Amino acid sequence: MVIPTKPHAALLASPGMGHLIPMIELANRFIIHHDFHVTIFMVSMEPNLDPLHKSNILNQPINTPTLYDLVVLPYVDSSAKIDPSNKILTRLAIMMRGYIPSLRSELRSMEHNPTLLVVDLFGTEFLNLADEFNMVKYVCIPSNAWFLAETIWVPFLDKQIKHVGPLYIPGCKRVEYDDILDPVFDPKNSDYDDYVRIGVEIGKADGVLVNTWEDLEPKTLYSLRNNKELRKMFDKSVYPVGPLVRPVRPECLGGELLEWLNEQPKESVLYVSFGSGGTLSSQQTIELAWGLEMSNQRFIWVLRPPIEHDRAGALFHAMDGQDQIISLYLPHGFLTRTHNLGKVIPMWAPQTEILAHCSIGGFLSHCGWNSTLESLVNGVPIIAWPLYAEQNMNATLMVDEIRVAIRSKELPTKGVVSREEIKSMITKIMVDVGGFEIRSRVKEVQQYAKRALNMEGLTCKAFSQLTKKCEMKLTSQRGTQNSIVNE
Ligand code: UDP
Repeated sequence: MVIPTKPHAALLASPGMGHLIPMIELANRFIIHHDFHVTIFMVSMEPNLDPLHKSNILNQPINTPTLYDLVVLPYVDSSAKIDPSNKILTRLAIMMRGYIPSLRSELRSMEHNPTLLVVDLFGTEFLNLADEFNMVKYVCIPSNAWFLAETIWVPFLDKQIKHVGPLYIPGCKRVEYDDILDPVFDPKNSDYDDYVRIGVEIGKADGVLVNTWEDLEPKTLYSLRNNKELRKMFDKSVYPVGPLVRPVRPECLGGELLEWLNEQPKESVLYVSFGSGGTLSSQQTIELAWGLEMSNQRFIWVLRPPIEHDRAGALFHAMDGQDQIISLYLPHGFLTRTHNLGKVIPMWAPQTEILAHCSIGGFLSHCGWNSTLESLVNGVPIIAWPLYAEQNMNATLMVDEIRVAIRSKELPTKGVVSREEIKSMITKIMVDVGGFEIRSRVKEVQQYAKRALNMEGLTCKAFSQLTKKCEMKLTSQRGTQNSIVNE
């Protein structure tokens, strides 16, 4: 294997757009600002993921050259190992484990020796490969620092106590019981062991990259670096490298939707979307439709077929061909009555481009971390509608700490949010005087995000520290190779 002249980063993204997108943006940063060579390894959820599909996933025209190399690891069928009772985290962990041999052989066959391995939350079992190949190893948390603190703290609780109330993380905002990740206090939940394991394995990395920035979570970042109790669980460097968000590609938003958006008044349209996996029940879909109609506000709603009792349903269910029948799930006559008010888009929309349009004035969001950041960088206030994973924490962070969001009294994870409450949240965020503070606060946060990203910003400084370590590794790799040659 040849030691390259510049650092070569191998980034492994686990399934789901929420994991792939930050890895792609991380790759772009390494390449554009730090002259790295990057290979992204992607895990395929389907047997035949062809290059055309690949370009759809990345939301870019075919034949557009990318800056990084993209390798789709050949499909491994783990279905026999997955028990129907397994929850989302366990399912992902089992799927990912199946790809360790193929990543090893890909790394072995690479022409240029990678200097650095970056995995995300579900890839921590791959960190041993970095030792095998003499690489620096990092975990990239596609979420916030508060969630990182919870994840590294939970293994401590595992050894000490079983909780029934809020979770106290040293030096950090406490996590209320309803916001705690489902498996944390339920050892019978199949996800419990995997979550504890991930918390322990993060500690084996040389450092953690987290998709936040200093101004957004100063207290938590300080505690992650300085709190004695937390440092006993995790004593490595924490690099806030955010906000890593997909840049707007104007060519992705075109045709009728763009024309319609261009005709709407400034900040008058509510965008409604539940990410790549979020799914509502039939009853909740009906209530949301009524709430939108009753609010009399303009909207764009990315709608997918309802699934009962599985709020992350779209992550694991193929919904191909269902876009034709989407109206079946809406109240009778809804599309006709709201024809001039809004647009229903089946399945998937060009979200970053929509959120960046000046007509957008609010986002009803499941609070996946990418969606949350996309809202912040565009200065769009949020109606928080968390559904699964760490989304309850993200929602609380946005409502209580950052003060750019509102949420329903009825938790969407527990019951059905009524049309009346939906209507009142929409009017508050979009037009009511009561929403004024939130609307102006989010513009302030937007400016902080811009500041973090500029060349003198703290995010850039974090990247520089990180890349220095990689350059040192490259020098040591070269030294090792020279001494082998000289022997
Ligand atoms: N996304 C999109 N169009 C959609 C739904 C989602 O482009 O219709 C993108 C969205 O912009 C975000 C990502 O998919 O970048 C979803 O990530 P997030 O962390 O918000 O949620 P997850 O899908 O992981 O739950």
